[in-house]
Amino acid sequence: MIGNSNKHNTDINNLNVTIIGLGKSGEGAANLAHFLGASVFVSDASFNLDIRKRSNSLESIGIEVEIGNHSNKIFDGELWVISPGVSQDSPVVKEAKSKGISVISEIEFASWYADYPIVSVTGSNGKTTTVNLINKMCNTNSFNPILGGNVGIAFSNIILNDLKNKPNNRIYILEISSFQLEHIFSFKPFISVFLNITPDHLDRYSSMSEYVKAKLDMVRNQNEKDHIVFNLDDTILNKELRNLKPQTHGFSIEKKNQTMFNVNATKICTDENIELIDLEELSLPGKHNLSNALAAATVSRLIGIPNHQIKKIMSNFSGVEHRLEYVMEIEGVSYYNDSKATNLDSVKVALDSFDQNILLLMGGKDKGGNFVDIIPHFKDKVKKIITFGQARDKISIALRDAVRLKKVNDLRDAVEFCHLNAVPGDIVLLSPGCASFDQFSNFEKRGFEFKKLVKEIATA
Ligand code: ADP
Repeated sequence: MIGNSNKHNTDINNLNVTIIGLGKSGEGAANLAHFLGASVFVSDASFNLDIRKRSNSLESIGIEVEIGNHSNKIFDGELWVISPGVSQDSPVVKEAKSKGISVISEIEFASWYADYPIVSVTGSNGKTTTVNLINKMCNTNSFNPILGGNVGIAFSNIILNDLKNKPNNRIYILEISSFQLEHIFSFKPFISVFLNITPDHLDRYSSMSEYVKAKLDMVRNQNEKDHIVFNLDDTILNKELRNLKPQTHGFSIEKKNQTMFNVNATKICTDENIELIDLEELSLPGKHNLSNALAAATVSRLIGIPNHQIKKIMSNFSGVEHRLEYVMEIEGVSYYNDSKATNLDSVKVALDSFDQNILLLMGGKDKGGNFVDIIPHFKDKVKKIITFGQARDKISIALRDAVRLKKVNDLRDAVEFCHLNAVPGDIVLLSPGCASFDQFSNFEKRGFEFKKLVKEIATA
């Protein structure tokens, strides 16, 4: 049975609302607050083309916007909605709080007007893949799921459209980063999902325990009627998610008989020992994707989705762009785009997903990870690592005793090198283990560039 809504229905008609940050979520929050009759002021201290476009769009419907700095007008707002990009420790946020202004996150704000249950998925890795799997599994005659949050459409925009169009049988499937969980007060998922917790974003949190605490905030308003789905194979989650009010349901690759779905050497079976699917039929490669599929299946079962539908999606889902995405084969060499692998855990799971020889493309903007951590995953498969971008020297120094290396300037040189040096049967894998911002505006642009370069080789 599926639970009820978050609805709060706070009346913000005529209230002065300040929106800090004009990313996708800031724009969504501004539109929603404007629709609800608030007097909205949007302020973003930075300036780029996307912000300018959003600013023009908001101004065209009569919303006041300032970009490039924060003026004192921001403090006229009685309610602040802040974007995930704005830290709770930023001076303006601290000042607003000291003036007694209520500061909430965009996800909290949108949830006040959510008429249907929320499934919220968090974790260090695998969120986008898992929310897409859940969304597809739940897309049946009985349910009308919609995907949003950190991925795709901002939650506020979804809520705004739903307030206008009043759909039936909605389920909100939200991808939630720990940043979005800062400044939540009444946000209450029907099912909260915890995939894994590894030390990413330690630049924004002073310690691992603070990072874990931020993630666990997602359950704080859940009660006995709500559910937590979590990864039993993750030591931190296994320790932290005990003795809580909501009903907890583990998923696991390793542990048997404590879960709704059990994995044996060749199959996934239900808790009644009925075969769900043969592991060979799973469409996504790698153990990490098996874990994501088990998480999605557990959520779907709680919602009431039948096993045949869960199986169908497990065998048909083609994955999400830039996540171990198969690009093409050229002269017997397979090219994979894993540009989203911006941390070293993602590189490890990518390496674990293949048995063939790999030419690994790594580099970009260093995120402070310890590159030697990936060495145990080489397992004689990694023939060579081609390093590029700002982090190339750091990577080369860290790995020089473990593998053969080639330093190049950029992605184009890296792809050309691979084309000249790979032999049939090899895999060329872009799994950079770094952020993209030294040479690209985001990981998507880096992935597109990689695919373009590979296609150029194919047609040369
Ligand atoms: P997120 O949205 O959390 O960043 P994605 O689904 O976009 O996660 O995947 C990002 C990267 O993490 C991909 O490169 C993928 O290979 C890796 N990854 C996906 N699922 C997992 C998992 N369960 N554990 C570890 N790494 C994963």
